[in-house]
Amino acid sequence: MSDNGDSGRPGPGENTPKLDQRPLSVLERRLTLGDMLDTATFAELVKSFAELYKLGVKVFDEKGNRLADMKSGNGDFCGYVFSFPDGKRCCTQTVARVKDGPLATTQNARAPQAPPGTKLHGMIAVPCFTGLRYLVLPILWEGDVLGRVVFGPFTPDEMGDLPPTLTDLTPGLDLAQAQSYLAKIRRAPESTIVKVLLHFAQLLETLVAAGQKTFLTSQVHIEATLESNRDLEAQNKRLEQMNLQLKDMDRLKSSFLATVSHELRTPLTSIIGYSEMLSEGLVGTLNQEQTEYVKTIMDKGDTLLKLISSILDVTQIEAGKVRLTFEPISVGDLVTSALSSIKPQAQKKGLTIDLKLPARAVEVRGDREKLRQVMVNLLSNAVKFTPKGGWVQVLVTEVKFQPELDAEGWHFVVQDSGVGIPSDQLEKIFQSFYQVDNSSTREFGGAGLGLAIVKSYVEGHGGVVRVQSELGQGSRFEVVLPVHPPPPRAVIAPPLSEAPPAPVDRF
Ligand code: ADP
Repeated sequence: MSDNGDSGRPGPGENTPKLDQRPLSVLERRLTLGDMLDTATFAELVKSFAELYKLGVKVFDEKGNRLADMKSGNGDFCGYVFSFPDGKRCCTQTVARVKDGPLATTQNARAPQAPPGTKLHGMIAVPCFTGLRYLVLPILWEGDVLGRVVFGPFTPDEMGDLPPTLTDLTPGLDLAQAQSYLAKIRRAPESTIVKVLLHFAQLLETLVAAGQKTFLTSQVHIEATLESNRDLEAQNKRLEQMNLQLKDMDRLKSSFLATVSHELRTPLTSIIGYSEMLSEGLVGTLNQEQTEYVKTIMDKGDTLLKLISSILDVTQIEAGKVRLTFEPISVGDLVTSALSSIKPQAQKKGLTIDLKLPARAVEVRGDREKLRQVMVNLLSNAVKFTPKGGWVQVLVTEVKFQPELDAEGWHFVVQDSGVGIPSDQLEKIFQSFYQVDNSSTREFGGAGLGLAIVKSYVEGHGGVVRVQSELGQGSRFEVVLPVHPPPPRAVIAPPLSEAPPAPVDRF
């Protein structure tokens, strides 16, 4: 053990959190003896010493807490002396001197008797008024006093009769009785007990060194874990905040789009209306060139109106404001009507359209307008993304049990020989505003909303939509819908960041 001194580190129990709220690290605070000792091994050591040398051994930490206490032989004698009032008083004083008194040769203590040249490491001898004696050794570690070891009381070898310091204080003391009790206490030369205590101190030092290592290792590990937990919590908080901000921005975006689209729709309806009046000659006959210009205005106006309607649909969906109304529907009629709306574009591109309806009519319940829009969106994509001369196949299956819905259902399939979709984008195309080609020079029109609407409406019917595609070969969109959808509820489109991917298969 090293010499006494002040290491400048906070003492035990002074590890109160600083201003930054981080508790002091085990590396920053002073360890206590209790921190560093393995209690079981230490108790074993003290017990074996007490039994082997027939000596009382006590160990106290810096604050006077008792870490070990093995008595040996002095119980009767001390108890007897203690039964005298002055004996009790003096005994209490001696015990206080030994336990809490200064670790210095003051207040009745002196340097112990030891062979010349023995290093005593601050050991002191404290005589008891009974003639018995204690040896006290400070426990020093890295410049700090961690506590003290007390050996005794023992009977010094040279002690003869009971001293007057005892007999004068305790009138009526039965000397023979006292002597017989005294015989039970270990008698030894002080220098022998000094050697035993130094030996004990060596073992204690080894125990403290090993204990310190184990304690520091485990504590540093715990602190590192706590620290990374704290980091994770802080990161989580930041993420939560960012998430809230994103949601706010998403709401702002939706309400901005809704307002702008609404404001655009009114003047656009007028533009289209006046163009119609012009083209019908209501304000005078137009020449051929004028008629063509007005027709272009009407076509572009129509495209713009569709786009605005899609944006309004998506913002309504995102706001949870769309409610489905179910009614009986004949699927055959609905498909035919949806097909008729995309036929002009298909004809323009010279596409072959093939429709396969089941022999038995499919009669279901659903929201007519929304289902029609699902079909129109899928069909117009097939037409839009299929080059001239290609084909589009439309298939409606019979009603039968659909395991994935766990209910009776039917399929609506649109397959094309078009450009196809890269496999790494298949999961994203159902997100609002997502387009495979989003460059400003892109070939195909649209705003990336059609499939987001399809997915929301299909799921609002309790159905699923999935896609298979092979780049350059074509795509296949398949919608599976129940015959009897679950009771209508608000159609919800999750915000972009949370949109779960639609099922994707290879073509
Ligand atoms: P839009 O068609 O208005 O761009 P959609 O949401 O309908 O928006 O489609 C999103 C994207 O998915 C399209 O931009 C396109 O890249 C891809 N896509 C959809 N349908 C097809 C298809 N039949 N063939 C190839 N790509 C398609």
